[in-house]
Amino acid sequence: MPLLRIAGITSDSTVDGPGVRYTVFLQGCAHNCPGCHNPATHDYAGGVSIDADTIFNEIVSLKYIRGVSFSGGEPLDQAAALVPLMDSLRRRGCNICVYTGYTYEEARANPIFFAALRLTDILVDGRFIREKRILSAAFIGSENQRIIDVQASLMRKEVVLFKPRCIQIA
Ligand code: SF4
Repeated sequence: MPLLRIAGITSDSTVDGPGVRYTVFLQGCAHNCPGCHNPATHDYAGGVSIDADTIFNEIVSLKYIRGVSFSGGEPLDQAAALVPLMDSLRRRGCNICVYTGYTYEEARANPIFFAALRLTDILVDGRFIREKRILSAAFIGSENQRIIDVQASLMRKEVVLFKPRCIQIA
């Protein structure tokens, strides 16, 4: 599988989506949201390179992991390299969550991003807007961001928000 540029990995996150998740923080982001909490992830030349196979093998060795999240930085800027990893993980029954600064509509309109979207279960979308910051909601940083059930949205051709009770992590 291709190389990914990453800022870091955590193998037992409970804050990047439902359940205990393996989270990959991709390196590089051009959104420049004022108040961003991860400015060290913005430089596309920062971080380290890692083969996606290495990540895949570690995830499948962790028997407690049923969900994988891709955060950043901006994961969709590495969508072409992420797609084979996402595809392999879904085939193993992993639930895939992506945190992006792009909106669902922007991702839907970009063919490379869309390839990743088709392999995504949950999308947390939109730039962080400091004036709309909230601390009380799980998984989002500002009120404009949405937690989207991507597969239902693609099927119905409209945005369907994620309802935790309806999502079963295989
Ligand atoms: S999209 Fe995320 S990582 Fe990128 S600048 Fe905005 S808050 Fe920071």
